[in-house]
Amino acid sequence: MSMEALTGIIVFIMGLVFGSFYNVVGYRLANNISIVYPPSHCPNCNHKLKFYELIPVLSYVFLLGKCSKCKKRISFSYPFFEMLTAILFLLCYLVFGINIKFFISVIFISILIIISISDIKYYIIPDEVLIIGSVLIIILNIINSLVNDISLLNGVLMPLLNGVGAFAVLYLFKVFGDMVFQKECLGGGDIKLLFVIGLVLGFDMSIVTIFISSFIALPLSVISLIKNNNNVLPFGPYLSISAAIILFTGLNLDMILNFFTSI
Ligand SMILES: [Zn+2]
Repeated sequence: MSMEALTGIIVFIMGLVFGSFYNVVGYRLANNISIVYPPSHCPNCNHKLKFYELIPVLSYVFLLGKCSKCKKRISFSYPFFEMLTAILFLLCYLVFGINIKFFISVIFISILIIISISDIKYYIIPDEVLIIGSVLIIILNIINSLVNDISLLNGVLMPLLNGVGAFAVLYLFKVFGDMVFQKECLGGGDIKLLFVIGLVLGFDMSIVTIFISSFIALPLSVISLIKNNNNVLPFGPYLSISAAIILFTGLNLDMILNFFTSI
């Protein structure tokens, strides 16, 4: 087997394992439960999961999607997010190779997955994930600057300012939106998430992220309003999908401007 294929398989398996952990983190942080205690158990009958019931994706298949003791259905979201994490980790490797950009991307993707899990289920974007993730990315930016002889201004300070700028723009959107709709239209977590997106994708592309996610979310929020008569829609997952698309496609402002000037 080639070195590339072997690395790809290892990255994929790491993705499955981390994805399994992110399911736990997303659930427990949103509900203020310790990440390490108690050990994983069935939420219905408290059956403590054996080691072979903790294997990502495979356990779900072997157990036919049910708790081995009480036979209560296990949410499909567990294997789904395990698989998604594995695929996106692999994509990080295929797109960037193994370098600092790979590690920054893996951390970025991890943040997006965890906050999507907790935002979809509990309408919460945990601060801890954004803070720890940002610190790790800033440390990698510092290492990258030192190793590749980039000035700290360009390699560390500029990304930070991009994050602050992106945060400020969405904050203004929120102030404006709250005024127009006379109610809270954007959560604080979404705005803080924009800091991380600006930090990694740059200021310009973080603004593009807001636009793309609004385009995806708008029709869905109208449907949700008609069907359930409620317009509470977690915005975090849409920001995450848009940010991931931009990360992997390398979409930039020049490409967008070229497209619009060519038509
Ligand atoms: Zn059970």
